[in-house]
This record gives sequence, C-alpha cells and structure tokens, in this order.
Amino acid sequence: MKQTNKRQVIAVIGGGMIGLSAAVGLRQQGHHVYLIERGAAPQFGDEPELRVSALAHHSRALLNQLGVWQQLPQERLGPYTGMQVWDTDSFGAIEFHAAEVAVDDLGAIVENKVLEHVLWQHALAVGVQLLAGEEVIQHQRQQEQMVLTLASQRQMTVDYVIAADGAASPTREREKLPLTFWSYEQSGIVAVLRTELPHQGVARQVFLPTGPVAWLPLGDPHLVGLVWSADQPAAEQLLALPDTAFMHQLQASSDQCLGRLELVSARAAFPLKMQYAQRWVSDRLLVIGDAAHAIHPLAGQGANLGFGDVIDLLQVFEQGVSPRSLRAWERQRKAAAVTMIAAMEGFKRGFSGSHPALKLIRGLGLKAGHHIRPLKRFLIQTALGH
Ligand SMILES: Cc1cc2nc3c(=O)[nH]c(=O)nc-3n(C[C@H](O)[C@H](O)[C@H](O)COP(=O)(O)OP(=O)(O)OC[C@H]3O[C@@H](n4cnc5c(N)ncnc54)[C@H](O)[C@@H]3O)c2cc1C
Repeated sequence: MKQTNKRQVIAVIGGGMIGLSAAVGLRQQGHHVYLIERGAAPQFGDEPELRVSALAHHSRALLNQLGVWQQLPQERLGPYTGMQVWDTDSFGAIEFHAAEVAVDDLGAIVENKVLEHVLWQHALAVGVQLLAGEEVIQHQRQQEQMVLTLASQRQMTVDYVIAADGAASPTREREKLPLTFWSYEQSGIVAVLRTELPHQGVARQVFLPTGPVAWLPLGDPHLVGLVWSADQPAAEQLLALPDTAFMHQLQASSDQCLGRLELVSARAAFPLKMQYAQRWVSDRLLVIGDAAHAIHPLAGQGANLGFGDVIDLLQVFEQGVSPRSLRAWERQRKAAAVTMIAAMEGFKRGFSGSHPALKLIRGLGLKAGHHIRPLKRFLIQTALGH
C-alpha cells in the first residue's frame, strides 16, 4: 500500500459528532463516503437537550470549515467568556476571562443532539451515503480492501474503515485492538437547570470531596447544563433521591453562585472511565473519537480531542493517505490523548478526598493559579484547546 490521494471509498462507523464530522470532511475532499449509524437519524426538540459539550476553538474552527457551525441555531449556542473554578472546603479559587488573552470567548457550549442533527443534515446535503438503523456485524480483509457485512446482510467493499462507534466500540472489539483502561469509579449526572441569576456566559465548576460539579451556560441566559461527577456510592444516592431532595443538595453545593436553581429536565447518569486504545491503526482500519480514547469530563475535553483526531486525519487524506502517514497520525494523536489523560488524572487526584493536608495543598494550588500568571495562562490555553 503506497501513498495515494486518489478518490477513496471510506466507511465511517458511528454517527456521533466525531464520525459525522469526519464523514463530512472526507466527502468534501471528494472521497466516496458511507456513514453507518445503528440508531435513528439525530433529532432535537424545543426543550434543551441533556447532553451538552463545551467546544474549544479548534473544534469550532473545524465545524466552521465544514460549513456546519454557521447552520447551528444561534439560540441553542452558549458562547462562554469566563470560567470560575473553586474548591468547596478550602480557600482556593480561580477566575479568568476571555479578555485576558484577547479573544472574544473561551469556547461555546453546544447541545450534542443539536450539533449531531445539523451535521447529519449537512452530511446528506454534501452527498455522504447515510445508513441509519444499520449496524456493522463483521469486517474482513480482502486483498487491499475491507468488506463490511451489515446486520441487514448487505455487504460493502471499501478502501478504509473509520470506527467512530463510541467508547464501547464494537469495531475496536472485533479487531481486538488492546485497550488500557481504568474506571474513575464515578458517574456523571447530567440535567438542565433554570437559574434565578443570569449565568453571564460564565462556566462554573466547584470541586466537592466527592467530585466536581459544573454548570455550563446554555444559549438562554437563565439555563445551564449540569454535569455532577460523583464517586459511585454518592452518585447512586443522588440518583435515588426525589427531585426536590436532589435539588436541595445541589443548591447547598452551589454556594448560591446562580441563585435559586430549578430542575427543568430529567436526570441521567453516565459511568466515567479513562481508556485508550493501544493501537489506533490496523492496516486499513482506524479508530477515532471515543472509540480511541475516553477521559473524565471535568475539563470538558473528550469531544475536543475527537475533533483534533478529525482535523489531523483530514490532512492525511488531503495529502495522500499511506501506511506511513497513518502511523504518523496515530503517534501524534496518541500523544495528544495521553497528555490530556495525564492532566485529567492530576486534576482529579489533586481535588479528590478531604484529608486536611490535601485541602491545604489544593487551596494553595488554586490561589497560586489565581496569582501566578503563567499557570493561569496554561489553564486558559487548555480551555482554548491550544
Ligand atoms: C457527562 C459528560 C460530559 C461531557 N462533557 C464534555 C464537554 O464539555 N466537552 C467535550 O469536549 N466532551 C465532553 N464529553 C465527552 C463527549 O461527550 C464525547 O467525547 C463525545 O460525545 C464522543 O463522540 P463520538 O462521536 O466519538 O462517540 P459517540 O457520541 O458515543 O457516538 C458513537 C455513535 O456510534 C454509534 N454506534 C455504536 N456502535 C455502532 C455500530 N456497531 N454500528 C453503527 N453505529 C454504532 C452509536 O449509536 C453512536 O451514535 C462529556 C462526556 C460525558 C459523559
């Protein structure tokens, strides 16, 4: 297999935001692209969606370049200009604003389903062959190509398979790509809240001894997306509580930063784990997005890493894909993922537990973050996805 920039036939498995953006980008380069999604085509309604993501500048730039960002409904986008992070039982706090690094905002909060819907419609418009309600059950090599068998027994022969089928990736499992993983033994509880005070475009996060709680500002100035990461026993207790008792606990944790909070959605929980595939490229099969890596949501970087995979992969296909360029892509993206995993681990360990010495250290850490300019700049750059 040598380098070629001929028109490739590519199957993307998984229609989450990462698979869809890869499919759109590859199609716009002139390749013939299939996208196979086992669920239905993504839809959204008038009510704000439960799952939201803070997207960094590089992710937005990609979506802009694909012609997708411009089509997102403005009222469902929450650009955020400030960040406040504090620790509930020490004296530490960091606050920073976009103006400090001369940018208009630090990123934007999007509702996952809204973005996926717009990506899906755009994929359709640019000529991606979308197969919803279909599942790949088998893949085989046939000389220089791959043959996929779908649950409907349809077969397709393609040059490359890109698996973006999420953290449980059935494709990665079938290919037996080894996985390094550990459970954080936490769940992330998500919900949408109405706030008494306007959020003012500030993303807020408090570290409790059981894990961080984040309030992410949505398009409506009084709506925030909640991400409450809690150790497993605490998460189970929180989920078992009736809405009023749950909100009582949340209110108590919020330090009244947004005034009175009202639950305006159901609650859902996601188990949190760290994992990465030890190999991302197996001949003509690649894994990207959560299929390749999953991290703790505390810095909102999971999808941003996936968009980074797509940006670099599009360059590989643009310049002519080869085993060598794919290996270089794999090295580069693994390094980015491992760096982020290590940073999340540091944050998580640094902020969990309530031993007094730990409290003092993390209090000093946050104070240092507030006063030492280079450290604070580093935190801002991470938020910007640089
Ligand atoms: C609580 C929480 C908060 C988060 N907050 C943020 C944040 O603020 N910022 C951020 O950047 N990231 C965040 N993340 C991470 C982010 O949600 C994920 O990284 C991102 O959604 C991964 O997208 P994906 O397209 O790779 O996978 P997924 O969204 O999991 O999509 C995979 C798709 O593949 C399909 N599929 C699976 N198997 C098959 C098959 N066999 N055949 C066909 N289709 C298949 C599935 O139906 C699904 O549609 C958060 C995560 C959690 C849990």
